[in-house]
Amino acid sequence: MSLKGKVALVTGSSRGIGKVIALKLAEEGAKLVINYPVADEAESAQQVVEEIEDLGAEAIALQADVTAMEEVKGMVKEVKQEFDTIDILVNNAGITRDTLLLRMKEEDWDAVLDVNLKGAFNVTKAISRIMMKQRSGRIINISSVVGLMGNAGQSNYAASKAGLIGFTKSVAKELAPRGVTANAIAPGFIETAMTDQLSDKVVEQMLSVIPANSFGQPEDVADTALFLASEGAKYITGEVIRVDGGMTM
Ligand code: NAP
Repeated sequence: MSLKGKVALVTGSSRGIGKVIALKLAEEGAKLVINYPVADEAESAQQVVEEIEDLGAEAIALQADVTAMEEVKGMVKEVKQEFDTIDILVNNAGITRDTLLLRMKEEDWDAVLDVNLKGAFNVTKAISRIMMKQRSGRIINISSVVGLMGNAGQSNYAASKAGLIGFTKSVAKELAPRGVTANAIAPGFIETAMTDQLSDKVVEQMLSVIPANSFGQPEDVADTALFLASEGAKYITGEVIRVDGGMTM
């Protein structure tokens, strides 16, 4: 088990891609922190904890809205009390508020930038001191191909995911001398609740531009996250890995 003894925090991991990443890291022996933003999700988060325990690994569920720095600090404090350290951070929490620019309300812009970009800043800042002190750590940011190529109707989401790539590279440069890597994963179309919301027409259009001729699964993203968290990726930092079936090659 390549991650035995490591502690991993995955934001927004009570469902979707975050949940599958958490399970994958746990399968490799990591101790997991399952983060969720609101009390309503406590039960799903607890179910993920139980699935992880069934794998023979340890896990705790902690509520914290990543947009709220005080909640994030409280979560990190609890992780330190429970597990003593944090070795792997996956900034996965993300939302969409899709609409064309002319119809986009200021609150649609703010909400998406707050969760997808400021959320990653808050959690990374809160854990970076721990990683720098221990002179090791892995930061994995879940961006999107939309941050690389843009998408009509997603100017807020594209800006947040492009911003996350710039953030990743800057953090990678700052923390590399301390043995901490920071990389981004840019998934294409992955089948989750997020993509379930799209109309059949959009889904059909998407499929027509994917050379692999199929949509990605959360496992495809989780396998890449596992690689970036593993010993084998220690000399990779500031990288953006696309997991998109060739969509943006
Ligand atoms: P999802 O099923 O909608 O899951 C998003 C997760 O983020 C949920 O657990 C959600 O919690 C959590 N979250 C939302 N706001 C939060 C906050 N303020 N604080 C903490 N957690 C919060 O989406 P997904 O498809 O798994 O997406 C996961 C990540 O992959 C996102 O960053 C997304 O942008 C990215 N991505 C997805 C795709 C795709 O095709 N699916 C493609 C590229 C990138 P609740 O359940 O409580 O809402």
